[in-house]
Amino acid sequence: MTYDIPGVGQLTINTIILDLNGTLSVGGQVVDGVRGRLTRLKERGFKVVFFTGNTRNDANDLAADLEIDWKLAKSAEDKRDLAMDMDPETCVSIGNGRIDLELMKAVKLGIVTLQGEGVHVETLQACDIIIPTINDALDLFIDSQRLIATLRK
Ligand SMILES: [Mg+2]
Repeated sequence: MTYDIPGVGQLTINTIILDLNGTLSVGGQVVDGVRGRLTRLKERGFKVVFFTGNTRNDANDLAADLEIDWKLAKSAEDKRDLAMDMDPETCVSIGNGRIDLELMKAVKLGIVTLQGEGVHVETLQACDIIIPTINDALDLFIDSQRLIATLRK
């Protein structure tokens, strides 16, 4: 998807890279409303994937339920390296933790969600948009006028 951002220029986002714990899920439970939004985003042509250290050993089950791919990343460097193979200039990263820091720096657009597991301050400082919840974050790409309104100068 290519967006014309007034005062900034064009932004193309093809891939949405999600974090799992504290972002897609809080306390091990996928946030209500996420599943339907992911379906809509896939229908719009976005590639959607999550990178996780698989702390709770539940990534396979959650990926099957959400019908998206996932990749194992045990460190911030792992997350960055995975993104480097996915054309990072067309990726958005949505996360919350310190493990997302290098990924936020590598991709074109970084978003931090302020949910119940908190957010690491270094990752917050490296992102472009801070937003309350994962559903709000995904809605930026369902209703593109929201994204444009936040990014325009
Ligand atoms: Mg996290």
